[in-house]
Amino acid sequence: MIDLHNDVFIKMDKQKFAEYIKDAEQNGVEAIFVSVWTTEMEKPMEQVRRCRQVIDEMDTRVKLLLHIEDAGFVNEGNIDELLSYHPYSVGLTWNYDNPLAGGAKQEGSLTPLGKVVIERLVRAGVCIDVAHLNRKSFWQVVEGSRGIICTHACFDEVCPHGRNLDREQVRALVDMGGLIGLTLVGEFLGGRTRDDVYAHIKYFIDNFGESGLAIGTDFMGTMDLPSGLEGYSDFKGFWEYLEKKGLSKGVIDKIAFGNAKVFLNTYNKL
Ligand SMILES: [Zn+2]
Repeated sequence: MIDLHNDVFIKMDKQKFAEYIKDAEQNGVEAIFVSVWTTEMEKPMEQVRRCRQVIDEMDTRVKLLLHIEDAGFVNEGNIDELLSYHPYSVGLTWNYDNPLAGGAKQEGSLTPLGKVVIERLVRAGVCIDVAHLNRKSFWQVVEGSRGIICTHACFDEVCPHGRNLDREQVRALVDMGGLIGLTLVGEFLGGRTRDDVYAHIKYFIDNFGESGLAIGTDFMGTMDLPSGLEGYSDFKGFWEYLEKKGLSKGVIDKIAFGNAKVFLNTYNKL
């Protein structure tokens, strides 16, 4: 599988991180977006640099993609340094407004600096992650863009929540060839069973088809996980469960890795 969102890097030292990635590899994980969540960090750029270094030194078949969650510390003076660490994707905010844009729990807009930062990121081939933006900022970022990713969210029509994507947002992302990582956070799913996860998958397929959907677990970023879906070793059973629910092997493979590969092949890496 390919996981569009995992916070393991900020939770563990290098040794434990390596063990975690080894375990992921043994469970068939092909690629992980390794998130550096910077909101509460004192020296975010230093942590981004360290993450790049740790990823580069890792001896693994798992493709590790550097992701920044909350680029509020980025400005015209340090964006060159950020780009030198080759992030694959960058989320402008976490849940709160910052100097770039408006977060999911507040009302802010995309700012002039936010526009400059996006322009620089896009020009450098970095994907923009809209997962934590509020709806206003989402539309300001998405309008006229391509290659947009939403690394971890669920669907508002299944479970109304400020962190979930409404129908128009999903439509826009699918139509532009974007990628959505369905996340495993119980609060956003509206429950903590595999059936709750399935409800979101079924909603997507019934309304938008088979392309554009992937998984962004938020492992190590939340304890609020569905029972029986708490680590990579649980996915084998989850794919079998989806098959029993009536999804074809082809569709399950698209969600597990196929759709993500199409996106990653289009926008840079893999
Ligand atoms: Zn997050």
